[in-house]
Amino acid sequence: MDPILVTTGWLAASVLFILSLRGLSSQLTARRGNVYGIAGMGVALLATLTSDAFADGGTTRWVLVIAALVVGSFVGAQMARRVAMTAMPELVALLHSFVGLAAILVGYASYLQTHGEGTARTIHLVEVYLAVIIGAITFTGSILAFLKLKGTVSGKPLLLPARHLLNLVAVALVVWLGSRFFAAEDTSGLWALLLGTLVAFGMGWHLVAAIGGADMPVVVSLLNSYSGWTASAAGFMLGNDLLIVTGALVGSSGAILSIIMCRAMNRSILNVVFGGFGTGESKKPAVAPSGDGAAQEVREASVDDVVAALRAAKSVVVVPGYGLAVARAQHAVREMTELLRAAGCEVRFAIHPVAGRLPGHMNVLLAEAAIPYDIVLEMDEIEDDLPDTDVVLVVGANDIVNPSAMTDPSSPIWGMPVIQVWEAKQVFMMKRSRAAGYAGVDNPLYYHPHTCMVFGDAKDTLDRMVAALRA
Ligand code: NDP
Repeated sequence: MDPILVTTGWLAASVLFILSLRGLSSQLTARRGNVYGIAGMGVALLATLTSDAFADGGTTRWVLVIAALVVGSFVGAQMARRVAMTAMPELVALLHSFVGLAAILVGYASYLQTHGEGTARTIHLVEVYLAVIIGAITFTGSILAFLKLKGTVSGKPLLLPARHLLNLVAVALVVWLGSRFFAAEDTSGLWALLLGTLVAFGMGWHLVAAIGGADMPVVVSLLNSYSGWTASAAGFMLGNDLLIVTGALVGSSGAILSIIMCRAMNRSILNVVFGGFGTGESKKPAVAPSGDGAAQEVREASVDDVVAALRAAKSVVVVPGYGLAVARAQHAVREMTELLRAAGCEVRFAIHPVAGRLPGHMNVLLAEAAIPYDIVLEMDEIEDDLPDTDVVLVVGANDIVNPSAMTDPSSPIWGMPVIQVWEAKQVFMMKRSRAAGYAGVDNPLYYHPHTCMVFGDAKDTLDRMVAALRA
């Protein structure tokens, strides 16, 4: 096909990807954003498959690509169909590792076919080296993030004594091996590329190993960003403008998300990336929570107690967490919300930026249950109203409402802003036990004078509440 048409196709795909990102930035337009994304990918595939560069490969290339498309689409569709909402973060981490692996393989293939000389060759070698190194860091980092999110590997940070020195030595080694690689004739620099890849594998693993459980949201978005830069580097290597643009879009949106997540957790990005580097940097909370939480007695409430409190309440705030996803209780929450609103009670949702296991996890669940967007508020939009709130229902959340983030400087979540539910007149905390949340930290909220625990599966509890409210 005419190269101009192919380039126009790539340009159209880039515009569709930008529109897709714009659409995905709000729940109201997310569906449209998704359609733009699918259309963009369709146009990109079509333009690539009809390009002269592709046609030059002859029939074998067609057969290989179609076989790969069929197998990949089948496996992808099966994974998407089977994955539980609670396993989405692991799947995303695993998919990031594929981007890294692809960049490594393409990098090696491209290097082994490298021709030319002079500046053009050096530029190409830099592109190959960067794509392979960033790809290798993304690959092992994502595999470890996958294992941590799955629970196969402990979420505790691995803080080796000389870890910063180790990272510095690794960076220096990668730079030195790079210089050897660029200086080598033909493909004789393969050894340097191989060694550089091994060092980068170690760097990716070590970087994620040093990051503690509560900082994992930032890791997930950082790896998302790395995978974008990997794709962009691969785009330079292959001379593919679309890959450069798409990679840069993913890379920069992932970086922006990482910064937003860091702000939400009151961490500096350096603090997270280098696992506790400059721990004193994070800003300390300005206010201490009210209530001392000293009494270690847990007060338990029955479903009838909760329903009685809800019937008397004029304002209710629901704080959903990861347990809502585990229990699949979003539809039961919606039914309860409808009943309470019909009875004249004001019901709102408070969303913590790192609730669940994925950025936006709770928004997705609530949108799936068709809970109106206008009653779903960000944590800081609702904070001032908590003291005047009659009842807070904490549904399967734990770390995001843990007062020790404000009171205990030794806590791994110290400094992370939390939803100060204890400011409300009455808190009901729905979970199955007194077990800790993802960060593995005890929660003094269980013993707070305003709190009553409602033990049991959140969906079961909510179903019984809905039945009682209907009666
Ligand atoms: P937490 O993991 O702190 O707490 C979830 C709670 O849900 C658990 O304590 C569990 O208690 C309860 N639970 C589990 N299953 C059920 C069920 N069926 N019914 C009722 N309760 C249930 O989740 P939060 O949302 O409060 O906080 C998120 C945490 O995850 C933070 O530490 C965050 O840093 C981390 N994280 C977030 C990511 C993100 O991008 N959002 C990514 C990676 C990590 P019990 O077992 O007693 O029922």
